[in-house]
Amino acid sequence: MQIFGSRELMEDVHQRDLCIGCGACVDLCPYFRNYRGKTSQLFPCTLEQGRCYAYCPKAEVDLNELTRITNGADYDGRPLGSYKTILGTRAGENMQGVEAQSGGTVTALLTFAMQTGLIDVAVLTDRQALIPIARMVTDWQDIAACATSKFTAAPTIAALNSAVREGFQSVGVVGTPCQMTAVAQMRSNPLGKPEHTVPVALTVGLFCNWSLDTRRLMSVLSEKMDTAFIRKMDIPPPPANILRIDTKNGPIKISLSEIKPLIPHTCFICMDLTAELADLAVGMYEGRQGWNTLIVRSDTGARLVDRARDAGFIEAAEIPAENKAHLSRAAAEKKERSLRTLIRRELINTENGRRAAVRIPPQIVKRILATDTH
Ligand SMILES: Cc1cc2nc3c(=O)[nH]c(=O)nc-3n(C[C@H](O)[C@H](O)[C@H](O)COP(=O)(O)OP(=O)(O)OC[C@H]3O[C@@H](n4cnc5c(N)ncnc54)[C@H](O)[C@@H]3O)c2cc1C
Ligand code: SF4
Ligand code: SF4
Repeated sequence: MQIFGSRELMEDVHQRDLCIGCGACVDLCPYFRNYRGKTSQLFPCTLEQGRCYAYCPKAEVDLNELTRITNGADYDGRPLGSYKTILGTRAGENMQGVEAQSGGTVTALLTFAMQTGLIDVAVLTDRQALIPIARMVTDWQDIAACATSKFTAAPTIAALNSAVREGFQSVGVVGTPCQMTAVAQMRSNPLGKPEHTVPVALTVGLFCNWSLDTRRLMSVLSEKMDTAFIRKMDIPPPPANILRIDTKNGPIKISLSEIKPLIPHTCFICMDLTAELADLAVGMYEGRQGWNTLIVRSDTGARLVDRARDAGFIEAAEIPAENKAHLSRAAAEKKERSLRTLIRRELINTENGRRAAVRIPPQIVKRILATDTH
């Protein structure tokens, strides 16, 4: 993996409009800050190599190397990444009364992980009105307060940097696929310094096709409502084609055609729908409201799911083959679409000293482009 400093981070990520505001470069040093969803550099820094560049999920990400370190195998471009099993799940009898996004699987698993000592802190995403906030949660009773999806890109990983600095030893992190890529880079300790060890014990990724720019969403929604009264947001499955916002005065529905222009450009170069570098990945369960689709990838994830099921924290069931096929098709479409954009923008596998956003082996590029997504 090629590692540079903050000057190159500004050139490669900010000037190309690729920053998703994940927070991985925030709170490492005094220079990078996130304010209302946007990450900025306050002062220049002259270090030739920095963790800011090394952790960023949009700068010189060597997917083969990262997948090898995280999953123990080469990156092969399969739509859903490597996994052990896919289940339908929802929060179990021990988690009654939590208002979650769909099945509450994420909140239930994190609560169980903290109650049983697998993690000593959870890195989660809260919000104030529409502004997503990175949170370190140390009491299992506070995990549910961060439930539900904030559909804006969030600086969640800044809280992981804070947790490491404060000396936590077993961190659980929940985040989108780009955030899981940042966490995988952090765990691989790219600069090889013992003091940079990031003790992550559990990663739970969320499926993500796109997110929304916080500031632009604020400007659109503040014309329609008082954003302080938002209770929950949801993007119901097709054919609904809306963003539904529950407020204390009732629901408001906004057409996706009005919302989609607020997607940051960088989401269109993102090849990962299902958080391929996480221990577990969770999304909606199409056709079964109140449930989740759960992809179990690692041994850590599998053990947690088994124990949480036995202890009544989650319920799990088989998922129909047609749901798996549909998810796989959606993931393959995102991969192919984003790969074509990466190629068109000359952001992948660049040569002659030009830095890339992503590197993957050329034969895998060919394989993804040849995948039949219809
Ligand atoms: C931006 C975004 C886009 C998504 N797109 C899809 C999609 O296309 N298809 C699909 O099936 N599912 C998508 N999801 C996932 C889905 O909305 C649910 O998060 C998932 O199904 C888990 O449901 P749950 O009931 O278990 O979550 P809950 O138990 O309610 O827990 C939700 C967790 O998500 C975390 N979180 C909330 N907002 C963010 C954020 N912005 N960034 C990082 N972490 C966050 C919270 O910390 C919390 O722990 C998306 C989520 C987000 C945040
Ligand atoms: S690490 Fe995250 S917040 Fe920082 S520049 Fe990269 S994408 Fe933006
Ligand atoms: S589409 Fe990709 S880059 Fe955009 S928020 Fe989702 S995971 Fe991050």
